[in-house]
Amino acid sequence: MAARILDGKSLAAQVRAAVKNEVAALSHRGIRPGLAVLLAGDNAASRVYVRNKVRASEDTGVRSQLIELPASVSEQALLDHVLSLNEDREVHGILVQLPLPKQINAYKVLESVSPAKDIDGFHAANLGALVAGTPHMVPCTPAGVMRLLQHASVPLAGARAVVIGRSNIVGKPLALLLLQQDATVTICHSRTRDLEKVARSADILIAAVGRAKLVTGAMVKPGACVIDVGVNRLADGSLCGDVDFASASEVAGWITPVPGGVGPMTIAMLLENCVRAARAAIR
Ligand code: NAP
Repeated sequence: MAARILDGKSLAAQVRAAVKNEVAALSHRGIRPGLAVLLAGDNAASRVYVRNKVRASEDTGVRSQLIELPASVSEQALLDHVLSLNEDREVHGILVQLPLPKQINAYKVLESVSPAKDIDGFHAANLGALVAGTPHMVPCTPAGVMRLLQHASVPLAGARAVVIGRSNIVGKPLALLLLQQDATVTICHSRTRDLEKVARSADILIAAVGRAKLVTGAMVKPGACVIDVGVNRLADGSLCGDVDFASASEVAGWITPVPGGVGPMTIAMLLENCVRAARAAIR
């Protein structure tokens, strides 16, 4: 039986509509949520991501500003921008687009963002809160995955979840969020032995790797929920996930498409975090 599609595009539209209402309500109270995006360098993919984030925020009424810096920008100049945005009362969310040019220590820059304005949830204080089970700003892609799972009522408590990928921005925080919902979580990476066997044990299988079609139907337990975080560009210019959709969707119970699955949810969660930061600023 073909899998049910977890439609991130439509759920993200619902989330954005709710954000828009909230922005209007806050604006009536004299607070217009504000987002500042720092883009350093000329990475083409980053430019597309940033444009989509700025456009989505404007659609919901969030005031956004894009600060573009040359690839040669110094670390200190970038830090100065962050520090001035930390002080700006009209800015509630600060986003530093990754990757940063090689002369810049990304960790140092991310740590310079005020945790209260860290709507990407990458600051050690926010990651620490997540580890402690008291999350405040949750990284957007993992938060988007959890929202998709919860919206589809995929059983989490007691489920066996396998996350392929251990990055700080997707794999690790996602594993923690699943653990918090009482799933039994395994994290896989490039040194994992017998990935196929581990993957096949999963009730919830998440691929966050960056390798086109790494996960095939043969790696999916019948009826499992398969979440594809990967975004890969094929030689013909088309987008493709980490999951071979054709074979996996024949075996899975639920599956996310690429595009139209996790990607739109990431932006929706970013907007939610920005509004949360704005609300927190008036308390
Ligand atoms: P990353 O930092 O490059 O991490 C990739 C992870 O995959 C690493 O932990 C790596 O293991 C693991 N890996 C690599 N090859 C593997 C293999 N053959 N078998 C098992 N594990 C393997 O990537 P990321 O930033 O987490 O992003 C992952 C993917 O998600 C990318 O395609 C990215 O474009 C996409 N993404 C999408 C969104 C969205 O909104 N849809 C957001 C963020 C990222 P090691 O740690 O051992 O190297």
